[in-house]
Amino acid sequence: MIANVSLLGLEAKRNALVERTLQWWDRRRRPLPWRAAPGQAPEPYHIWLSEILLQQTTASAAAPFYLKFIARWPRVEDLAKAQSEEVIAAFAGLGYYARARNMHACAKQIALEGGRFPAEEADLLSLPGVGPYTAAAISAIAFGHRAAPVDGNIARILARLVALEQSVKRSKSAIASVALALAPNERAGDFAQALMDIGATICRPRGPVCAACPLKEDCRALARGAPEAYPRQAQGRAKPRRRGAVFFARRADGAFLARRRPPNGLLASTIELPGTSWTTKGPGRPCPAAAPVAAAWRKVPGAVRQAFTHFSLSLTVYAGPFDGCAPEECFWVRPDSVDALGFSNVMRKAVAHALSAARFVRPQMHGGEAIGLDSDA
Ligand code: SF4
Repeated sequence: MIANVSLLGLEAKRNALVERTLQWWDRRRRPLPWRAAPGQAPEPYHIWLSEILLQQTTASAAAPFYLKFIARWPRVEDLAKAQSEEVIAAFAGLGYYARARNMHACAKQIALEGGRFPAEEADLLSLPGVGPYTAAAISAIAFGHRAAPVDGNIARILARLVALEQSVKRSKSAIASVALALAPNERAGDFAQALMDIGATICRPRGPVCAACPLKEDCRALARGAPEAYPRQAQGRAKPRRRGAVFFARRADGAFLARRRPPNGLLASTIELPGTSWTTKGPGRPCPAAAPVAAAWRKVPGAVRQAFTHFSLSLTVYAGPFDGCAPEECFWVRPDSVDALGFSNVMRKAVAHALSAARFVRPQMHGGEAIGLDSDA
């Protein structure tokens, strides 16, 4: 146990703290589309779907996706019957495409079991794509079981509440203990959602609005006059950087060549511009072998950058005219259909970068002759 986490002190005030937090929730809860109205029973499918869509993103970003999924697949059995490409395309823009595949696999499993989600955390954990946080959130919110989901926002609140002197990364079990000590027997789902809302709207990473916080009477970070000093930061290592190149082969009618990534691995099954692999050394100069077709390739000024969990990526974009047949594994995509297809975020950026580049001017065709790449690759 970490020395400065006095759970006994916290427990003595627990009931009052929980009561204040629930009262705040009753007045201030965010009207999110997946939430049941006061007095109504939550729908487990809605809660599960929202929690999957909310992983790694905000409620405002996830809400349009949620509404789209619910309109298209109103029941978990409907989602189970969808084609996997449809689900991946509907997920496009949320990143982490393994989640789309796991979501679909989970829907199929639930449909096979009569469309009923399990209520216990242990059973939920056995479902594809459901980790400890999601299992606790579903168990608490959808079924009212006493469970304590801890995501990044809630970990920040609790680290501030007890003024943890270690980083969140090094204090996971202590934070989980505080969360469980606070979780009430009654209204555990409301309490968890209250913490989620406090984390999103009040106890923000920068500029927490402590005056409006129902936890302020017990918050040690506030009492020390330094809420932003918590959670303590871990001494982190910089992410490795990878580089690559993609090719924007544009036809006279504006369509461009794209391909689908393999069904496994990073961004699995999403649509991408053809290009090189992403390595720390980068694509080298020049790299004609990686171009999908021979064309008068020109480097688009600037680069496309994207942060992934374990590395940061810088992509060079080459643009060139091409009016031949699409090579094997490639197909033509119209720019106005990018949003409807399963392009990943980084590839949407690459397409936008190629389309908006002021210097991209359609050069003359060269009778099919391979021109190769600019030398500044
Ligand atoms: S009082 Fe301030 S620092 Fe403490 S939990 Fe509330 S918003 Fe966060």
